[in-house]
Amino acid sequence: MPSLHLTDPLRAELFVYAREADPEEACGFLIGRLDGAAEYRVTHVRPARNLHPSREDRFTVDPLEYKKAEKFCAKHAAEGLRVLGFWHSHPQSPPRPSSVDLEQAQGLYASFYERYLYVIVSPNEGAGELACWQLNEQGRAFEPMPFAPKR
Ligand SMILES: [Zn+2]
Repeated sequence: MPSLHLTDPLRAELFVYAREADPEEACGFLIGRLDGAAEYRVTHVRPARNLHPSREDRFTVDPLEYKKAEKFCAKHAAEGLRVLGFWHSHPQSPPRPSSVDLEQAQGLYASFYERYLYVIVSPNEGAGELACWQLNEQGRAFEPMPFAPKR
């Protein structure tokens, strides 16, 4: 069963970025390792500029920052670091992917055949909520990515 390891300090960092950008969406990258077939371990979360003109409910990651993230991973290739996926915030809604999120993810999947992780942070839901999603193998729908139990 696949699972995601995301430590409390990294979660806290995502909430800081989400609250700084509020009421606009924040976005960025999840960097880490894939252990075995399905153990995703996030080691770094990086913010990126949101270039979308309607940032209150859309995001577009700056492609230059994608290049920088890839460079960072190349530098740390010995540790197995790679871009595991993306994170973005939902200032006004729960951490579930919208139809726009699905279309965007399907577009990337069609180009790269990469089943990226999508973490969504909702800073204004209760005390703050966070969830992770991944396209299913057919790339048709998102399925929830469970968090690994804390040790
Ligand atoms: Zn979204």
